[in-house]
Amino acid sequence: MKKFLLSAIAGSLLATAMTPALASESGVHWSYHGKADPTHWADGVPANAACSSGQRQSPIALSEASAQRVASKDFTIHYEAGSVALLNNGHTVQANVSDANDTIVFKGETYKLDQFHFHTPSEHTLDGQSYPMELHLVNKSSSGRITVLGIFIKEGEGNPALEPVFVDLPASQATAGRQAQVDIAALLPNDKKALVYTGSLTTPPCSEPVNWIVLEQPITMSKQQIAGFKAIFHDNHRPLQKLNHRQVSEE
Ligand SMILES: [Zn+2]
Repeated sequence: MKKFLLSAIAGSLLATAMTPALASESGVHWSYHGKADPTHWADGVPANAACSSGQRQSPIALSEASAQRVASKDFTIHYEAGSVALLNNGHTVQANVSDANDTIVFKGETYKLDQFHFHTPSEHTLDGQSYPMELHLVNKSSSGRITVLGIFIKEGEGNPALEPVFVDLPASQATAGRQAQVDIAALLPNDKKALVYTGSLTTPPCSEPVNWIVLEQPITMSKQQIAGFKAIFHDNHRPLQKLNHRQVSEE
């Protein structure tokens, strides 16, 4: 028994040394592949229980046709240009935002933009279609509530607003990264029509509730920009989750 434990410990130390450490804020290893893939995020980790037992999980398959039409928008977006700190957190490339002026007002509550990051392929689907990438802009209220703005990315014209990020993506994991100037308002598509629903974080601890605003009009990135991200993160998307009894509205 002792021998087995020792070899198990040695094995895990070896695995840690050989693969990049993919620890969440709680220090628990999780991944998109292998033994720590999304079907195992809650295994033995009470803090991640929502990943398996939550009833309002994200992402979901979005359908414009079945969305409820509403008369007025629940949200307004107020983003501008500013500086971000770019880093590779082992799961994605993330841009931490420190400007206080980037906000979303959702149902009368102000949410400040905290960070944005990328997934490939897209996590949500729209009318059965998956996109090469999806951008998530994570906004937090003073009381700790979260609203995420999701934007699909399709292959097309190079994205000038994202070039300061993609010109030199952080290829290896680090806790601090380079500064970049990004016009965050310029990241958004012209059409702000969105599918809005209540979901969760798409990474451990899969916390609920999260207000999701997923814009229907995709933005574009060049083949090279997408390939640059895929060279670092080949696949970092969580599979689709059950809709259960949720209503998606179109605003
Ligand atoms: Zn995300």
